[in-house]
Amino acid sequence: MHCPFCSENDTKVIDSRLVADGHQVRRRRQCLACSERFTTFETAELVMPKVIKSNGNREPFNKEKMVGGIQRALEKRPVSADAIELAISHIESQLRATGEREVPSDMIGNLVMAQLKDLDKVAYIRFASVYRSFEDIKEFGEEIAKLAD
Ligand SMILES: [Zn+2]
Repeated sequence: MHCPFCSENDTKVIDSRLVADGHQVRRRRQCLACSERFTTFETAELVMPKVIKSNGNREPFNKEKMVGGIQRALEKRPVSADAIELAISHIESQLRATGEREVPSDMIGNLVMAQLKDLDKVAYIRFASVYRSFEDIKEFGEEIAKLAD
């Protein structure tokens, strides 16, 4: 990080804290040459990984598709738009946080299921039944039984 006062390359971080709800890091830096202090804000690069489909094809992450699946599962369920929005942004953050350039589509499905599990059990089961296409009714029953714990 170049010093904005003298362009020296050597600066040290004297303070570092999360801001903007944890989406940014604010750093106080001091130049080792001229001792001037300055502040930087660092934001993680907002790039979504590509999706590796089960047949091996790669495709860009499709937010509309994911949101569509979530909304179908939550249809007529008592869950607020805010809560849904938050769940979606959690999933996106988790995907970015992998730091991977490509992630398997399974991973997205699992992240969605984890969020739905917290939001609404019925929606979770709906989504799981489509996404996981349970082998048989026994497996489906086991999944429901797990929710009762
Ligand atoms: Zn300087």
